[in-house]
Amino acid sequence: MPVSRRRFGLLLAGTVAATAAVRWFWPRSHVNVVLVTLDTTRADRLGCYGNKTTQTPALDELASRGTLFERAYAAAPLTLPSHASMLTGLWPPEHGIPANGDNALDKSIPTAAELFAKEGYDTAAFVAAFVLDARFGLNRGFQVYNDDLSSATPGPEELDRYRDGKHVVAAAVNWLDERQRTRHSQPFFCWMHLYDPHDPYISHPEQFQSQFDHQLYEGEVSYADVMLGRLLDKLKATGELDRTVVIVTGDHGESLGEHGERTHGYMLHESTLRVPLIISDPRHPQSAGTRIAAPVSLIDLYSTLLDCAGISHSKASGTSLLPAILGEPLSPHSCYSMTDEPYREALWSPLRSIVTDRWRYIRSVQHELYDLTADPHETLNLADQKPDTILELEKELAALESRFTHRDGTVVQMSDHERRVLESLGYTAGQAQEPTEKKDDRPLRDIKEMIGYLNRHDDAAELIRQKQFAPAAEILEEIIKDVPDYYKAMLDLGLCHMLQDRFGEAIGLFQRVLEFNPTSDRTHDMIGFCYLRQKNLESAMKHFLEVLKVRPDSENAHLYLGEINQRQGKFVLARRHYETVLKINPGNNAARAALSALQSGGY
Ligand SMILES: [Zn+2]
Repeated sequence: MPVSRRRFGLLLAGTVAATAAVRWFWPRSHVNVVLVTLDTTRADRLGCYGNKTTQTPALDELASRGTLFERAYAAAPLTLPSHASMLTGLWPPEHGIPANGDNALDKSIPTAAELFAKEGYDTAAFVAAFVLDARFGLNRGFQVYNDDLSSATPGPEELDRYRDGKHVVAAAVNWLDERQRTRHSQPFFCWMHLYDPHDPYISHPEQFQSQFDHQLYEGEVSYADVMLGRLLDKLKATGELDRTVVIVTGDHGESLGEHGERTHGYMLHESTLRVPLIISDPRHPQSAGTRIAAPVSLIDLYSTLLDCAGISHSKASGTSLLPAILGEPLSPHSCYSMTDEPYREALWSPLRSIVTDRWRYIRSVQHELYDLTADPHETLNLADQKPDTILELEKELAALESRFTHRDGTVVQMSDHERRVLESLGYTAGQAQEPTEKKDDRPLRDIKEMIGYLNRHDDAAELIRQKQFAPAAEILEEIIKDVPDYYKAMLDLGLCHMLQDRFGEAIGLFQRVLEFNPTSDRTHDMIGFCYLRQKNLESAMKHFLEVLKVRPDSENAHLYLGEINQRQGKFVLARRHYETVLKINPGNNAARAALSALQSGGY
């Protein structure tokens, strides 16, 4: 095994007096590492990246003390896949989490936190949103994994829950205080995640009065900077900052309307992939204010985090950025990004992208090629003019993919309530909803042509949330007229009918959805409900049993099956379903009431 940087450091520290020359090689016990991830944060919205609107004094100050990467790219424009890549050093197909809400990280994959903990580090994480809940496996290696959302403000439907950055930073600050009180001498690895810049964008008048009333996103980014500042101030106050490597990045950006995309997840452009990356390492004062122009990927963070602490680790797909901090040239880093969201939406073509010094190539039905030097906002697709460049980059992309070791994540089961929380955040939870195959030979549709329909579908979904079913149905009918295979729009149109008690029409639409996605438990659930309301108990039962095939612990399905059996006089079976509901969720009052009614009737 090669002598790790840490051991070399200890050797030096043991043989040479602690002079300025050996400041680079502190004993491990004195080097802390802090990772801060700013959700949904575009690099070009920060002062240190040239933005004049947002207020980011904490980030700007950090950049002046550290190394700023001008071109850092997320591996996926989605929260969970991107964070999984940072913490494992693997591309999404390699860590097995290509989407939010479906899979947990497989236990065979080492995480940075695990290696820190093995080396005796105290490890703690403070995350702000349900998409990073411990069940998705990024908690592995963290002795403290604070994903407590009890401080979250209920949204209009009490579903869109995430917590304000002030609560996240307060938890992290408490943890640092506690360490100081108990005189912890071990070094620590701490990850703090701030969700504020994610939509919905809200104003923070207590912080900025009306300054960002017309630029809410910029206000949210500025607010996240205030929270970062609180953490850095605490590190300073506890005397830890001078022995702490601080890394701040974003998990992905936000389109803000560019390329027709409103938020993120469905496309692969600079707007959603280029994120801030600042590394401040007080051991290397010569790096202060350095700016690195070469493109790097967030999967490089895994090796970088561990190298900064001198922890040896097996090779990951990413490459350490430490040479850049030491003033050495960086070897070329692969910058691959992927999204399957178009496919998950309606079997549209998934996207893969690769970035070089000059080009971005996006593989789709109609490929895209942008000259990032001349056209940093990617306004001119040069794919038709530059077929040779496309061929060359496609070769590079395919070669990179051929080196992937594909893994599958572990399927995560969620309660009905949790699934609704994810859906309210715009994430469609549940692998069962992902169609398994496309039935006809027509070419896949291209998200570039579908993004307008996707936005209109979002508008309709918002109207449904506001209980404006008729105008929502009107939009959805227009979408389906143009795109007859847009089955998620069909699902929502069925929902509109269902919520207006038009059960026959709803069932017709839901049955069409099942032609595309036969195991969609959500669809079976809604068909079951419609039949139940039509008093067609046998058909209702059939569909609720289909739900249980996919999700055996569905509270809803068991509750309705209890009701159906009860109405059919099958009291033992009814009782069994109600008891199952209470096992899944002891707080389910409907099941408790039904069960006690059965009991008082002598069943
Ligand atoms: Zn995110």
